[in-house]
Amino acid sequence: MKLFDNTEIAFALKSHSQLERAYFLFRMIQNQPLVRIGSAVTNFAIKAHLPIEGLIRSTVFDHFCGGVNEDDCMPIIDNMHNNGNVHSVLDYSVEGKDEEISFDGALEKILKILNFCEEKRSIPFAVFKPTGFGRFALYEKVSAGKSLSEDEQAEWKRVVERYHKVCKAALEKDVPLLIDGEESWMQQSADILIEELMEIYNKDKAIVFNTLQMYRHDRMDYLKALHEKAKVRGFHIGMKVVRGAYMEKERARAKEKGYPSPICANKAVTDENYDKATRYMMENSKMALFVGTHNEDSSYLVMQLAKKYNIKKDDSNLWFGQLFGMSDHISYNLANEGYNVAKYLPFGPVRDVMPYLIRRAEENTSVAGQTSRELNLLKTERKRRKL
Ligand SMILES: Cc1cc2nc3c(=O)[nH]c(=O)nc-3n(C[C@H](O)[C@H](O)[C@H](O)COP(=O)(O)OP(=O)(O)OC[C@H]3O[C@@H](n4cnc5c(N)ncnc54)[C@H](O)[C@@H]3O)c2cc1C
Repeated sequence: MKLFDNTEIAFALKSHSQLERAYFLFRMIQNQPLVRIGSAVTNFAIKAHLPIEGLIRSTVFDHFCGGVNEDDCMPIIDNMHNNGNVHSVLDYSVEGKDEEISFDGALEKILKILNFCEEKRSIPFAVFKPTGFGRFALYEKVSAGKSLSEDEQAEWKRVVERYHKVCKAALEKDVPLLIDGEESWMQQSADILIEELMEIYNKDKAIVFNTLQMYRHDRMDYLKALHEKAKVRGFHIGMKVVRGAYMEKERARAKEKGYPSPICANKAVTDENYDKATRYMMENSKMALFVGTHNEDSSYLVMQLAKKYNIKKDDSNLWFGQLFGMSDHISYNLANEGYNVAKYLPFGPVRDVMPYLIRRAEENTSVAGQTSRELNLLKTERKRRKL
């Protein structure tokens, strides 16, 4: 039996009734029309302030999120750590806000989470999204090299200050900080800023981590160019390597605006690109790698490479990460083998995490009649438990 086929370890923390609930949920979201209609109706109902939060909570929310605030998440974090040796990354998943007050609120949240990280071994990283700290349209404008009005310049300065505040706190507390990757047409300004931060805060080790979305065909060149800069200027590179979550949006925009799609031609090319990036990072020194994937082959490859390059399973510069509610077969089996594993544990008010939840539902919807892999795993475990 291959390592990730062990569903007993994968679902050891789930009671029979929790397993049945997950099975029911994935059977529902496997249905493509249901997810499409469900997402539209839910968005409408939330905007119209209809009382559907209870329904969302007891279904998708409780499966994919830790709760509405940090306190809700604590028992889950302790359970995963004490009983499965799996760590957590508290992910404040409020999206799509455009006001300064929410950016300052997000900053306060991340600073608070950094305090938890310092106290609890079970929470080794903090994380935030660039658009948690500033307006999407502002990142977009800076990325496009357009000139900013005086007000916008002051606004961008505040964004940069927020980054510095969290990075400074992360360095003082010696807690690595992940920064998520978003849409390509706003990402460049974030990348430039994060490079500057790496140069300042990653002198001795990787504190600041950017994200490489390997569905973008330009990312290997980007990584290599960054490596050259890092060698010259003497800083460590921290990277979370993912495939990327905005493929359809990226392709649609490129088509609409008439520029070449930034996305790899097909899934096989993305897969190859992904594995190239993890290999490159493991072959070179002064690189800290967070392997953010639910892909079994990419995870097996990193395990093989760790062995080949004599990287210890619990080396502080090598982490695997999955999302809470997904791919427990990878997380718990890797942790059981002694690798460093952390689950992203999203939290936030139900209505504010809806974009995140809809992405998860769409990701788990079956394409062309295939059963989603989560559903297959749950089926195997139900059979094993004779439920
Ligand atoms: C811990 C963690 C952190 C994450 N952080 C981020 C983040 O910061 N930013 C972000 O964008 N995403 C992030 N993601 C999501 C991630 O980018 C993927 O959407 C998700 O993990 C699915 O990819 P996979 O590697 O797990 O597996 P797979 O199921 O093997 O790959 C699916 C992915 O392959 C790519 N793909 C699928 N079809 C095609 C095609 N026809 N052509 C080209 N490429 C294709 C897409 O990226 C798709 O999401 C994160 C995921 C995890 C686990």
